[in-house]
Amino acid sequence: MFDRVRRVRINWLVPGCVVVLLLTVIAGVLQYRWINFAADAHRRQGREAMEAALRNFSGDFRDTLLQLVPFFRPPPDERTDAAFEPYMIEIARRWHSTSDRPQLLASISIGTQSDNGVVFRRLQTGDNQFKTEDWPNEFVVYRRVLEERLRLPGGQPPLFPNGLAFEFFQSRPVLIFPLVTGAPPTPEAPRPGGAMTESPPSEQRLQPRDLLQSLKPAAPQGSDHLPELKGWCFLEIDSDYLRHYLIPELVARHYGTGARYQVAVVASHPLSMIYGSDPTLTIASFSQVDAGIVLLDANMQQDRQGPPRPADGAAANERRPPSRPGPKPFVSGPQGVPLAEIRGNRLGADDQAWLLVVKNRAGSIEGLVENARLHILMFSLIMLALLAGSSVMLMLATVRARRLARQQMEFVAGVSHELRTPLTVIQSTSYNLSQGTIQDPSRVQQYGDVIQREARRLINQVERMLSFAGIQSGRRVYDLQPTNVTEMAERSLAEYAVAFGEDGWQIERHFAEDLPLVITDGPAFESALKNLFENALKYAAQGKWLSVTARVAQGTKGREVQITVADRGPGIAPKDLPHIFEPFYRGQSGSTATTSGTGLGLCLVERDLRALGGSVKVQSAPGEGTAFTLHLPVS
Ligand code: ADP
Repeated sequence: MFDRVRRVRINWLVPGCVVVLLLTVIAGVLQYRWINFAADAHRRQGREAMEAALRNFSGDFRDTLLQLVPFFRPPPDERTDAAFEPYMIEIARRWHSTSDRPQLLASISIGTQSDNGVVFRRLQTGDNQFKTEDWPNEFVVYRRVLEERLRLPGGQPPLFPNGLAFEFFQSRPVLIFPLVTGAPPTPEAPRPGGAMTESPPSEQRLQPRDLLQSLKPAAPQGSDHLPELKGWCFLEIDSDYLRHYLIPELVARHYGTGARYQVAVVASHPLSMIYGSDPTLTIASFSQVDAGIVLLDANMQQDRQGPPRPADGAAANERRPPSRPGPKPFVSGPQGVPLAEIRGNRLGADDQAWLLVVKNRAGSIEGLVENARLHILMFSLIMLALLAGSSVMLMLATVRARRLARQQMEFVAGVSHELRTPLTVIQSTSYNLSQGTIQDPSRVQQYGDVIQREARRLINQVERMLSFAGIQSGRRVYDLQPTNVTEMAERSLAEYAVAFGEDGWQIERHFAEDLPLVITDGPAFESALKNLFENALKYAAQGKWLSVTARVAQGTKGREVQITVADRGPGIAPKDLPHIFEPFYRGQSGSTATTSGTGLGLCLVERDLRALGGSVKVQSAPGEGTAFTLHLPVS
């Protein structure tokens, strides 16, 4: 019944362990999916934050520049061409006294018709009058538009009367808008000093090079308030102000102190650095970037919408309304992207543009997220493996503990039996002697022998247990001496001569003549041999044949003496073979069950031999006998 209970308990362990392993695998799969899900969300979030920062930076930059246009655009119904210059001088004065960024504007130029034809006149910052200059090559197309239009009968509606164009003049950004008269006042054209609002261009923006092709025929009949193109106004932005003040301010607002990001503004054609957040940065260091956006190019006015927002650092990167158009931010994959990809296909290869580019100091978002994902995956896998490993080890330990407990119970039973048998014999024999029942001297001699044999058996048992306790506690000390193996084997055999002789055993000895001395502990070696003889007596009685062989051979660790004790008994079952050297292990076969023993003999042999630098090996097959070989190194 106990056995059944035990089996039931042990049987629980296996399915329990399988369930734990299964749960571990399921947990692993769920964790894997969750980590991937979290990584995707993190990646998306990082990408969106990066895009928002780029979009907001670019929006703030453009808003700051474009606030000039509504400020300087004259109301078309009030001005004649002669009055444009004093008007601009007055507005420039107001700009410098009221604007919070007076240095933004480098110069104002006006291209208009005069008595000397179409002239280009510039008002430098600080001057109080316009000076005539050569018409710049970059703006020649505007001059031609002016000439063509002015020649047309009845005046022509100007292109983008409420809009603007954007060009680079000697690599400096310039905002261009038409000077118009004769149109009804536009609600979006503000008075100087008023609210800075700017409506989107009222017509599709045309590239300057397309302007000539878009000249239209005469005005429709009956149009009283057709706006009339009188000239162009060119607002030149101060690049130094952008480089040294505006861009650093926006970088600080949107990217902080620079601990995480390297930020630069580069001009695309020719490729050059306008601004770098770190003085060590060069254009080469931005050959591959993590993110970027077009800050300025000829499409600028098309992208703009809505009034400039107040520069509020805390709210700087809040999500803007999705309706806000603008250049598309570009966030790269793990490898980064070349600058050319940031521009996309907005313009031709030769067109100038300023690009805002960003490099994450710790790597791209994709790279960082992937790295974190792999680390978390690896960590979780290790944790799960540890969990699974611990469960398996716990199960093995439990099985082992149960087996040990069982073996110890059997050991106690075995020891009791081993002790009780000789003690009973000694007690009854000595009782007979003491009572004087046995008078015959030869019988007395016989009884004395019996007592002596049983006492020796008793002593052997006790010594065996003491040896085991000594080995277990590490207190066993070996006395190594040069030992003659042949002598030792002969002596041990002699001690068992009576036992073997009584049962009619055939004993064979094969001792090589040239056996060297081995350095070993004589008593330990002797006790190992005796253990093997005793086991042969106990388990191989059916063969009644014992062979003891000693020879010198080359072992794995060098020369060694090998002593083999072989019998022709029933052999050891394969399932017992791996365990016979374990403490308290006893074979499961029927013959072992009927033989007394503690399961310590072979364990002691193995541990003693190991402590002496040697080893013990066994060869056995059911029905073919058993051969134990002791290997002792010849030092
Ligand atoms: P014990 O003899 O007290 O059981 P041992 O450690 O000496 O313990 O032996 C362990 C087991 O090995 C034995 O229970 C027996 O099953 C098996 N065994 C040992 N020697 C032999 C042998 N010569 N022939 C068959 N089986 C053996």
